[in-house]
Amino acid sequence: MSGKDYLAMLDDARKHLPERVFEKSRFEIPRTQSFIEGKKTVFTNFGKIASYISRDESHFCKFLTKELGTGGVMESGKLVLVGKFSNFLLNEKVNKYIKAFVTCKECGKQDTLLSKEDRVWFLKCEACGAKRPVINV
Ligand SMILES: [Zn+2]
Repeated sequence: MSGKDYLAMLDDARKHLPERVFEKSRFEIPRTQSFIEGKKTVFTNFGKIASYISRDESHFCKFLTKELGTGGVMESGKLVLVGKFSNFLLNEKVNKYIKAFVTCKECGKQDTLLSKEDRVWFLKCEACGAKRPVINV
């Protein structure tokens, strides 16, 4: 296969992917993976996403359980939630968390740090230096 053919093939592959995939070249958050087991929902890549976005698992867990209005236990990288929740809904909540606690509102980058100062949580951007308080979970 020639180099040209290869490029054409890549082009073709890109056409089949949704546009938003290319919006962020560096920061691709893994999609939520979960399954329902009885009356519980097991969020299997919870820990992986938490480490990917460099956020504390318990903070992330607290937000999700509050948003979903349920209880949850962290179990070796997984989050077991009480109740049945669709993967789509979990993904939405994860995106909401990222928007609130990871993404810099000034520059849109995710190179941020979450820290607590005098009982208030701040999100500080390492890329542009912006700092803003965030809600408590
Ligand atoms: Zn920024």
